[in-house]
Amino acid sequence: MKKVHNFNAGPCVLPDQAIDNSIEALKDFAGTGMAVIEVSHRSKEWSAVMDECRALWKELLNIPDTHEVVFLGGGASLQFLYVAMNFLENKAGYLETGVWAKKAYKEAKGLGNAFAVASSADKNFSYIPKGYVIPTDIDYFHITTNNTIYGTEIRYDMDSPVPLVADMSSDIMSRPVDVSKYALIYGGAQKNVGPAGVSFAIIRKDALGKVSRYIPTMLDYKVHIDGASMYNTPPVFPIFVMKETLKWLKGIGGVEAINRMNVEKSQILYDEIDRNPLFVGTAAKEDRSIMNVCFVMAPGYEALQDEFLEFAKSQGMVGIKGHRSVGGFRASIYNACPKESVEALVSCMQDFERKSK
Ligand SMILES: *Cc1c(COP(=O)(O)O)cnc(C)c1O
Repeated sequence: MKKVHNFNAGPCVLPDQAIDNSIEALKDFAGTGMAVIEVSHRSKEWSAVMDECRALWKELLNIPDTHEVVFLGGGASLQFLYVAMNFLENKAGYLETGVWAKKAYKEAKGLGNAFAVASSADKNFSYIPKGYVIPTDIDYFHITTNNTIYGTEIRYDMDSPVPLVADMSSDIMSRPVDVSKYALIYGGAQKNVGPAGVSFAIIRKDALGKVSRYIPTMLDYKVHIDGASMYNTPPVFPIFVMKETLKWLKGIGGVEAINRMNVEKSQILYDEIDRNPLFVGTAAKEDRSIMNVCFVMAPGYEALQDEFLEFAKSQGMVGIKGHRSVGGFRASIYNACPKESVEALVSCMQDFERKSK
């Protein structure tokens, strides 16, 4: 197979070990003589996968007994609706930090009263709002910890006087998190923890049951907690790959170890962006994401954008074109992106600088 440096934003690079083990499980799963996608989800072999996956989540993120983790279909985008269905009674507050935050907010507005507590829309979401006060009369405060499109990130667990709800689609498992501070952490798997097709929710159990509306069965977090994520047929293959991805993460030392690696990888790339006169970062420095690194051609060099994209492609770089709403470039350097890929991109930027002089 051709080796590339994969900077895709999601779906994205996954650990080789997880891919290889998943291929094996497609050939013969746990000695059953069947592929993992051919066995009953009620079999003991499959139950063992579910148990192991859940246990890995709990161990890696140190999830307290007050919380439960469930695996769902429908992606993070359907959970935008789950959040409002399960938690919105009178009023909800959203931190508007980008497209994903706005989409989450839209679902709440569709069901009831929701408003933006603060927003960074004035500067195309290039920073995280600061100095706002979380109202105490809202049912929950919703944040998007990593803004995948703009490369900004809230890299700490904030104190909130009301239940805190976080979309962590693109930075889950990238750093240690104090789960006890959140009523809900949710996201799609396809950035840091697996393939598309499954999403996760870590729910504080006593935060549920506080709304008066009818909650459709499949949108009720409690149904999925009570059913141990098997109320209906779960997305078995994505869950299997997720379990293998988490096994890999545990094997390399867990979230503390990966956080150190992620900080180092992002620093290498940001240092080059700040040094290289051809490029400039788009996110406010203090809010820079360690997952998605966004940059553009520096003023005066804009005309070189396509040329750099072509050059990077010729050097094996994949997926560095920025999101259409920001332009320029975005290197997504999730957990499974090796340091060598980041170093290769930096070399590429340096070669391009020499070539363009
Ligand atoms: C990718 C992403 C989503 C959307 O996830 P889907 O699983 O495609 O619905 C939502 N929020 C954030 C922060 C994302 O990065």
